[in-house]
Amino acid sequence: MPHTEIRLFDRNLPNVDVEEAANLARTHFAVDGDLHALGGERDQNFRLDAGDSSYVFKISNAEDGEDVVGFQVEALQHVKARDRSLPVPELHADRSGRYMPRVTTESGDSHILRLVSYLPGVPVDEAPATLRTWREIGALMGRLNLALGSFYHPAARANDHPWDTANCLRFQPLTEHIADKSERALVNSVFDRFREHTKPRLDATRHQIIHQDAHCGNVLVDANDPERITGLIDFGDMLHGPVVADLAIIPDRTERSDDNLLDVICHAAIGFDATFPLQETEVDLLFDVICARYALGATIVAARNALHVDGPRHMESSEPFITPLDQLVSIGSATCTRAVRRACRFPAMLSGADEEALLDKRRQYLGKNATHFYARPMHFERASGPFLYSTDGNRYLDCYNNVPQVGHCNPHVVKAIARQAAALNTNTRYLYSSILEYAERLTDKLAPHLDACVFVNSGSEANDIAWQMARIMTGRSGGLLMEDAYHGITGPIREFSPGHPDTKLPDHLQGLIVPDPYRGKYRDDTPDIASRYAADADRAIADLARAGHETAAFMIDSALCSSGVPETPDGYLREVEKRVHAVGGLMICDEVQSGFGRMGQWWGHELHGLTADFVTMGKPVGNGHPLGVIVTRSEILERFTEKTGLFSTFGGNTVACAAGNAVLDVIERDELIENGRVVGEYFREQLRELSKTHALIGNVRGNGMLTGLEFVSDRDTRTPATEETARLLELMRQRHVLVGNEGRDGNILKLRPSLVFTHEHVDLFIDALDGTLGDLKAD
Ligand code: PMP
Repeated sequence: MPHTEIRLFDRNLPNVDVEEAANLARTHFAVDGDLHALGGERDQNFRLDAGDSSYVFKISNAEDGEDVVGFQVEALQHVKARDRSLPVPELHADRSGRYMPRVTTESGDSHILRLVSYLPGVPVDEAPATLRTWREIGALMGRLNLALGSFYHPAARANDHPWDTANCLRFQPLTEHIADKSERALVNSVFDRFREHTKPRLDATRHQIIHQDAHCGNVLVDANDPERITGLIDFGDMLHGPVVADLAIIPDRTERSDDNLLDVICHAAIGFDATFPLQETEVDLLFDVICARYALGATIVAARNALHVDGPRHMESSEPFITPLDQLVSIGSATCTRAVRRACRFPAMLSGADEEALLDKRRQYLGKNATHFYARPMHFERASGPFLYSTDGNRYLDCYNNVPQVGHCNPHVVKAIARQAAALNTNTRYLYSSILEYAERLTDKLAPHLDACVFVNSGSEANDIAWQMARIMTGRSGGLLMEDAYHGITGPIREFSPGHPDTKLPDHLQGLIVPDPYRGKYRDDTPDIASRYAADADRAIADLARAGHETAAFMIDSALCSSGVPETPDGYLREVEKRVHAVGGLMICDEVQSGFGRMGQWWGHELHGLTADFVTMGKPVGNGHPLGVIVTRSEILERFTEKTGLFSTFGGNTVACAAGNAVLDVIERDELIENGRVVGEYFREQLRELSKTHALIGNVRGNGMLTGLEFVSDRDTRTPATEETARLLELMRQRHVLVGNEGRDGNILKLRPSLVFTHEHVDLFIDALDGTLGDLKAD
């Protein structure tokens, strides 16, 4: 578009002399005083001092009609009505109550007049701004956006003017007027990137009416206290545009500031975000929009000067735009965006990060034994539903992690956590209803005798408290567990977590042999296999008694996850329970793995027909938010608290309960347990189908969304394919599927995808496994 068609490019400033202006002010607004010319890009402005009052008397550009000026007038009125304390000019009516009388000046042109209050202070670029000043300016613009969010005016789009950052590309042909070749190339590179990258993304961000002109010359601060903002002026560049463009103007013309440009940008963003939360895409576009604004400014000034646009020069040179543009480009998009993200506490996105450096730091601060999955740890930056997204841009299907039971970053859970965290996060010593609602909902899902809850922070803690309760309730000290169980990390519970059958247990604990009909002591062809395995409980109870420890409780993971999810023989666990109860012991059903629908019904212990004295919960309870629960009989809780008292600072705080309630909402509303049952069955069917072509698959078992997949190198001898399984994990990762292995020989995959898994996700997994098993065969 030729520049002559761009509205207001040629400025055409009104040219009324002081005497005539004074006359107009007197005649129309009944204000008599001294007039001094002020600057202005498109309007003619005078400071008007009359007695104790000071005003700005504005003679609008003849190109601006009632629509455009009315837009400004109504916007100011709206802003004042929304947020009285915003330091924006107050409008004064003329003698007949009008805010924008039209006059014909001596030159014969027709102009609209306005009288507004004169705001005190000095422009930021004339004061020693501090980082706090930039935050205050950001906060001011955030508040203004908040106020303008509920405003619209039909002329918003008619106020077309050169300084519309989102439309900067129409100025690219005028870059020919930038005399310096390298400056011209720099500006053109910004416009090119804006066209290819920024504009399509910017168009999809939030738009509303924005001020678009909060550069250093238009923000006023107290000369004695530059951290106090006294005014925001010049509403002439308002338009309907992207919110981030308003923030992008704050670092404009900061060349006189001593502050580091990146600091200015970060602190302006912090302030803005505090009053008008930024969106992630806006933060990621900020660098490019600031660059575009600088490029636009440089082009307009260079072109106006070269084309000798009439009237006094708007700006002498484009240097105030070129200098910071140069600086910003050398800072670079990645550094700038990372800094703003960190400043506003958006998650770090470290695409292209130096992972060696991260690993070194990890070893330094987390210890060299801090374990990680895979030879080289995965580096993820976001997740959604069943997928994780790595910093190198790949998408991984998560079949390992059973914490995000209702899908990674489930939006309902995320919002519940955020909303509660924004309102109140405090502990169980105060009265609040959500903990009671949550306790009621949880206990309603369990047998009627399980009617009291204790809230803690992890599965380990839940097991620890349940174990303490069992000891106090029974007055005994002996515990039964699976010989390769895992129940957590607290001192007493670590003892309940031998992990391997050969681990020596302390005297007060006895491990039961794993009831594994596929590769255990008694196999699927053994008659009365359940009783044979259960008989080991008699041995264990007797051994405990011999060591001076009567049985207080049997702690059992209803999924037997650390044993490789064996298909426990029908009735086995009930037979053990009978023996435990017969000697006066209690049942601690650890549902950290098996709870919340994992096994196709709410609780794993119910699948086995057990009557729990304690149900302990962790992992999926908060879908990732730390929350552990013990549900027990109220008489047990009462007895325990009489003896010990009980308080956990974080356990069951308001935010944890919001997470817990939201997880229940999603499971119920989306019928995820039913989904898990159907998709889980399909999953195992497909695996069995695959076993027809891949002899490595020895056994497929499970319930709901919990599947054990056991690899053997020889189906007859059921020899564990330990090495192949280890290679398979890595190869599956290369095919972008995450799995984990289990069992004493490490040859079992425990597959625990989230309950939002669909048939398509199963198919993705099966394709990857098919390919991987093919690769292993070919090796
Ligand atoms: N019980 C079982 C069955 C578990 O699998 C785990 C964790 N893997 C725990 C308890 C311990 O939970 P947390 O890590 O939350 O302490």
